[in-house]
Amino acid sequence: MPIPDAYLSRTRIAYLTMEIGLRAEMHCYSGGLGLLAGDLARSAAELGLPMVFVSLVSRQGYVRQTIEADGQHDSADPWRPEDWAQPLDVRVALPLSGRTVWIGAWLHELECGGGRVPVLLLDTDLPENDAQDRGLTDRLYGGDATHRLRQEAVLGIGGEHILRALDFRVEHYHLNEGHAAFLAASLLQRHPTDERRAGGVSDAAVPGRAAQRYDAAAVRAACVFTTHTPVAAGHDRFEYDALERELGQALDVPALREFGGEGTLNMTRLALNLSGYTNAVARRHVQTAREMFPGYRIDGITNGVHPSQWVHPAIASLFDALAADWRRHPETLFRADELADDALWDAHGLAKGELLEHIARTTGVTFDPALPVIGFARRMTGYKRADLLFTDLDRLLAIADAHPFQVVMAGKAHPNDGEGKALIGRIVAMSRELAGRLQLVFLPNYDISLAQRLVAGSDVWLNTPVPPLEASGTSGMKAAFNGVPSLSVMDGWWMEGCEDGITGWRIGEADGSDPEGHAASLYARLEQDVLPCYESDRGAWLRIMKQTIGRLAPQFSSHRMLRDYVSAAYLRR
Ligand SMILES: *Cc1c(COP(=O)(O)O)cnc(C)c1O
Repeated sequence: MPIPDAYLSRTRIAYLTMEIGLRAEMHCYSGGLGLLAGDLARSAAELGLPMVFVSLVSRQGYVRQTIEADGQHDSADPWRPEDWAQPLDVRVALPLSGRTVWIGAWLHELECGGGRVPVLLLDTDLPENDAQDRGLTDRLYGGDATHRLRQEAVLGIGGEHILRALDFRVEHYHLNEGHAAFLAASLLQRHPTDERRAGGVSDAAVPGRAAQRYDAAAVRAACVFTTHTPVAAGHDRFEYDALERELGQALDVPALREFGGEGTLNMTRLALNLSGYTNAVARRHVQTAREMFPGYRIDGITNGVHPSQWVHPAIASLFDALAADWRRHPETLFRADELADDALWDAHGLAKGELLEHIARTTGVTFDPALPVIGFARRMTGYKRADLLFTDLDRLLAIADAHPFQVVMAGKAHPNDGEGKALIGRIVAMSRELAGRLQLVFLPNYDISLAQRLVAGSDVWLNTPVPPLEASGTSGMKAAFNGVPSLSVMDGWWMEGCEDGITGWRIGEADGSDPEGHAASLYARLEQDVLPCYESDRGAWLRIMKQTIGRLAPQFSSHRMLRDYVSAAYLRR
């Protein structure tokens, strides 16, 4: 099909992202980065922003996870784009590794709150392609460095070409993480300062002079960049030799040295150098990012989550009665203190009941609805410390004996992350060991629908990263929208959201220092504050639930985040 004219005539902003979490059935996402893109897209649709979203189709998904006695087993997670999207009549050619790779696109029309935005999912599984290139857009974050380089070329260069081939008139390109930075490099090719170059004369092989032929200022005027992680592995680097071999016909690679760094090309640096506006994703992360990349102007726009996407229907109907317009204007939820105790408790009980039913169905373990449920779901990787709770088993069990509680965990490890997989193995083994004294389950295949159950049905949301490595984190915000308080280390968004004893509880020092002391603090908070309050002061607990909604939902919505991007980034002067 052709792209509907209504989109072409109005769209001015293109958002490029390696992954996007649109719905559980569309496996073109892996975790937080994709969900953030998905929530921003939902806000754009609901608020009527003139945006188009571009990502990879990822036909084989990220990871399908099952949990066995020894931990994670993973495989591909295929989905059928034709079930959720329309193929567009468009093809662009990308010269890659001496071959021509044809790129097509699927159109998913994302509807939300009465509005819609187009989402383009790039696909190289086309009959005109070489067998090895047909699989380029199959597996999200799969393959080796060369594969990743090619995928990022499809996203950035292919994305820029597809938008142009479809006749979108884009004024602002938003690069969601460094993965999309080749878009800026592709734009750079379109802005030569030397008109003679159009005649085909190229002295690109002469480093130092080459860059002067491009108008980087014009590219910066168009590009916005969001950096998402202080973890080194999150910043892709490619050898210039590999770039020349793979992309030498598509890009003026020697000219990129000025922007991508000497030695190897760092995608974050490329994006920083070619974007007129850069932001980190929480105030704490701004400090970290400025330390990582001194000399760059880095602003802060704190992440947010989409209101109606994450609020359980039972809680949503209470909100409807409280503030009819909360879906579009979640600021109105500041009145959450007016919610009736019984109604809120019952609505939460419904969400909790559904979670417990899911737990029983998938694991055979029965949780007691009268006891508190602590929820923890994260990508299973070292710095998130999923095992912090188990640091001192004697201490943990003594607390559980005095104040019984239950723990539900979930999360995928990247297939190549041995440490992450071992962590899951240890937690699963622990759940057997502790049975009878502390109920602990690990639910398989953390995805959008499981996240919705967990953030609404848990009683407390646990978060234990090593500061400052959690740039923002968003699942705690989703929990907050459901009145589920966080018990969290001070890092990322929680530095802004935590009012201790009011919107939840902090673990450790207020500045996030002394991570070694976090386990002891976690035990103390559970024993002295969280569990006794749940057990014996229903009124105080409900007050915390309401404060969690009333003080956090207004600030941490993706509508607020999107409006911040509009005023600070898209419409900047
Ligand atoms: C929200 C979400 C995440 C990100 O949560 P964090 O708090 O940033 O770790 C990851 N995966 C899924 C399925 C989610 O819904």
